[in-house]
Amino acid sequence: MRRVYLDNNATTPVAPEVFEAMTPYLTGDFGNASSIHWYGQQAKAAVETAREAVAKLINARPNEIAFTSGGTESDNASLFGVVEAARAREGSKHILVSAIEHHAVLHAAQALAKRGVEVTYVRVGASGIVDPGDIERALRHGTVLISIMHANNELGTIQPLEEIGRIAAERDVIFHTDAVQSVGKIPVDVEKLGVDLLSLSAHKLHGPKGVGALYIRKGTPLAPLLYGGHSERDRRPGTENTPGIVGLGKAAELARLSLEEQGRRMAALRDRLEETILAGIPLTARNGDRAQRLPSTSNIRFDHVEGEAFVIAMDLKGVACSTGAACSSGSVEPSHVLSAIGLSHAQARSSIRFSLGRMTAAEDIDYTLEVLPAVVARLRALSPQYKAAATSSQ
Ligand SMILES: *Cc1c(COP(=O)(O)O)cnc(C)c1O
Repeated sequence: MRRVYLDNNATTPVAPEVFEAMTPYLTGDFGNASSIHWYGQQAKAAVETAREAVAKLINARPNEIAFTSGGTESDNASLFGVVEAARAREGSKHILVSAIEHHAVLHAAQALAKRGVEVTYVRVGASGIVDPGDIERALRHGTVLISIMHANNELGTIQPLEEIGRIAAERDVIFHTDAVQSVGKIPVDVEKLGVDLLSLSAHKLHGPKGVGALYIRKGTPLAPLLYGGHSERDRRPGTENTPGIVGLGKAAELARLSLEEQGRRMAALRDRLEETILAGIPLTARNGDRAQRLPSTSNIRFDHVEGEAFVIAMDLKGVACSTGAACSSGSVEPSHVLSAIGLSHAQARSSIRFSLGRMTAAEDIDYTLEVLPAVVARLRALSPQYKAAATSSQ
């Protein structure tokens, strides 16, 4: 059976070049990057080369990049670190996040709320895009942080960071973005976006799992999340994950070199998948804005189709896709992102995310389109609501 992987927003396959770049650091070049001998220096040099590659991908300076264990840590380090660094300031602290953030930001914000930090959750409309005006209006005396993601993991929608960055700078508020989904897929330039902190993760751009980075603009007050040794200029202690960091560096380099070409290629495949489904299958709709989104993501509603059943049925045909966010699968709650754009419980539960990657081939889309209509028809035949709707419209 053919296997097709259309769940690249959950994780991506490691690129062969990345694997090859990593292997020496899992074997002979095993040194600790903090050691002063030859072994340590080999590791140190590799870590610094990776730091330059990551910095170059997002137009930062190498000394503004701290390696972490991934997107979740970078997000937590930003939220907790900014609030902790502002502790000496008088009065109550306020932070502002969007309602469609990844749980790594949302749950960190909720934990801060329990500690007395005031949190505003900025709403989004049906487009799945934040209105910068809403952010401006929500700012107040005591606001220490704005955290708005770059691209949403479920819808792919891209947030107006440049405008938000200007507002943050004018009001002297620190601006963090979770750019885990956008880095490596669309151009990301920390200067242009006006961000102070930016989270990224290797495994979303064909690198290994368990490694990521946090961009920290020079001068940004940030308390560390962890305490220990002096690695990463005291910003993130712990012996550097050299193989992982090398893998992230290689992944960043590869992404930078193929960004535009891959963006065009993926968008064409995504559009063919989406348009064929929307035109050929009744009672389907696109979720979120059509234009302002990643080239690789499509979120489609198949009314009267139970999402989990769809994912399982497609999996039996060899096609991997997902309902809502990967981390919420298994829970009966509909995705907070789909609820935030105004979908009903039933609509959210019949929404499917298809996410493409650099390894997605045209034949993968052909195959998906070949098996998908029968799966939808079969699941709809099981739905009492669909049968009732079909009968009444006759
Ligand atoms: C995957 C993801 C994360 C978490 O990154 P990890 O490296 O898996 O911890 C955070 N934010 C977004 C938007 C993501 O898609």
